[in-house]
Amino acid sequence: MIIRIAGTPVSPGETAKIDANIAKLPSGTIIDIPIIVHRSKKPGPTLLLLAGMHGDEINGVEIMRRIIREKLYKVDKGSVICIPIINVYGFINFSREVPDGKDINRSFPGNRNGSLASQVAHFLMEEIIPHIDYGIDFHTGGARINNFPQIRVKADDEENLKLAKAFGTRFTLNSPHRDKSLRKEAFKHNKRILVYEGGESLRLRKNAIDEGISGMLRVMKYLDMRKEAPASKYQTKMIARSSWIRAKAAGLHYSDVRNGTTVENKEVLGEICDPFGTFQNKIKMPGKGHVLAVNNNPVINRGDALYHIGYEE
Ligand SMILES: [Zn+2]
Repeated sequence: MIIRIAGTPVSPGETAKIDANIAKLPSGTIIDIPIIVHRSKKPGPTLLLLAGMHGDEINGVEIMRRIIREKLYKVDKGSVICIPIINVYGFINFSREVPDGKDINRSFPGNRNGSLASQVAHFLMEEIIPHIDYGIDFHTGGARINNFPQIRVKADDEENLKLAKAFGTRFTLNSPHRDKSLRKEAFKHNKRILVYEGGESLRLRKNAIDEGISGMLRVMKYLDMRKEAPASKYQTKMIARSSWIRAKAAGLHYSDVRNGTTVENKEVLGEICDPFGTFQNKIKMPGKGHVLAVNNNPVINRGDALYHIGYEE
């Protein structure tokens, strides 16, 4: 079978770089979205590796750069489609969204005649998703929230769980499908997308990059696309549910807890103080759980999400 993307056919045994053009900027400038497709001569599944859906989430872009630079897409069986920066428009503006302010991952399945975010979603649904069996969508926390490396899947699906276990991050978070997301729309077509979250926006974080790459290699091995993959340091913990600890007051926020650790009930996570020395409040755990993310903003408002806590049951 031939994979055809943006008019370019790629046959088994071929590697191609395709420049897809989805939209022009208001200046008339055409921005290409580079896509690298590698097809082994031997049949097997097709895996999508996608990053930069949120244009300021750079760890995924670096993960993709290393996959391409080290030719990790050269699988023994099946095919790999690499899209290092799907939201090129946001990437050049250091922005999560596309320039009209819309979030691509809330715009699926999209529309050819819709907004820019909707056009990008439509391109993925029409030109990419029909070719694939599985996907890994690389993200980070937004707005200076540092996500400890984690996989998010809808855990009531057995195939999803197997893929998440194969990826082997410390945490696998049960995460119901959100409306208009790639994960939900692809699932309707029986395609499974793992969402990898690691690190924070606009910051390269080595552990999140390394874990993303090694997890991706383990998924390839699980799918029998390659023989070798680095072993995981972890037996992944299933997180059944999670919730945010939010700021009870506005002020300065100091975090004392290490991201990714397990914390007992009533243990102190950090402090909120006002800048004028009036108060200094400790933030305590509401039960035993795992720290999945920490907000690194030093100045916070009442109600801001500070710590994402995961519970095993
Ligand atoms: Zn994201």
